[in-house]
Amino acid sequence: MSIQLPVQQLLEESAAHECEGVGEQRVCVKIVSIAELPTRFGDFQIVAFENNRDGKDHIAIVRGDVTNAEEVAVRLHSECLTGDALGSLRCDCRDQLEAALTAIGKLERGIVLYLRQEGRGIGLANKIRAYALQDFGMDTVEANLALGFRDDERDYAVAAHMLASLKVRSIQLMTNNPRKIDDLKRLGVNVTGRLPHVLPPNPHNEFYLRTKAQKSGHMIDLRDFKGKVHLPEQSDRPVVKGMTEEQVKALYE
Ligand SMILES: [Zn+2]
Ligand SMILES: [Zn+2]
Repeated sequence: MSIQLPVQQLLEESAAHECEGVGEQRVCVKIVSIAELPTRFGDFQIVAFENNRDGKDHIAIVRGDVTNAEEVAVRLHSECLTGDALGSLRCDCRDQLEAALTAIGKLERGIVLYLRQEGRGIGLANKIRAYALQDFGMDTVEANLALGFRDDERDYAVAAHMLASLKVRSIQLMTNNPRKIDDLKRLGVNVTGRLPHVLPPNPHNEFYLRTKAQKSGHMIDLRDFKGKVHLPEQSDRPVVKGMTEEQVKALYE
C-alpha cells in the first residue's frame, strides 16, 4: 500500500477532541483505534470510533490518506448482519457494500462509513420480526414501514462528524439519491459532487432489471425469484447496471 493515514496524529487529536456535537442530538465521536485492513477488495485501513450517545462502535474503512484531501469518494453503509455477513437475499445490502468497496478499492483514496444501524435503526430483533411478518404473508406494508422508517438525521450527524474527525476537506458522495447531499451539507459537510452507485448485474439482483418498480405510497414492491419482498434496508435505492432511466426515476418518485 502506498500512502496511509497519519495514525498517531489522528489518535492524539481525537483524544484531545471536545465539541458541542453535530446535529440536533449533539453527537460527538472520537477515533479510538486505527489498523490496517487488507481485503479481497484492496488494501484499506479500518478506523474505529466511539461516541457519546450509545455503545455502538461505528467504523470507517479508509483507502489512502484522506486527511486534508478534497473530493474524497465516500459511501454511507448501514450495517446489515443478515445481508453483509450471511449473504441473505432478502435485501441487497451485501451487493451494495461490495460494489462500494470494489469501486473505492480501485481509487487512490476513498471511504466507506459503516454505520451500526442494523435494520435501518430498528435493531436486529425487530428486523427479524419484520421478516417474520412477511413470511406469514401479512402486513407487508407494515413490515416495510417498520424497516423503512427511521431517524435519518442521527445517521448523518454521525457520518458528518466521522468525516470531520478524519479531516476530510470535501467529498463526492456515492449515492443514487441527490437529496442525501443536502442532508450532509446541512450538517456542515462540503459535498462537491455525486458519484452514481450502480451495482453490477448478478443472479441476486437481476430481478430489479426484470421487475417493473411498483409504487404503493413510497414503498417499492420488488419480489425476487424466491418470492420475498426486498425491504429497503439501505438509505439508497439500489440501481443495477442495465436498468432503464424510467426504472431509476420510479425509485425516487
Ligand atoms: Zn465532537
Ligand atoms: Zn440488508
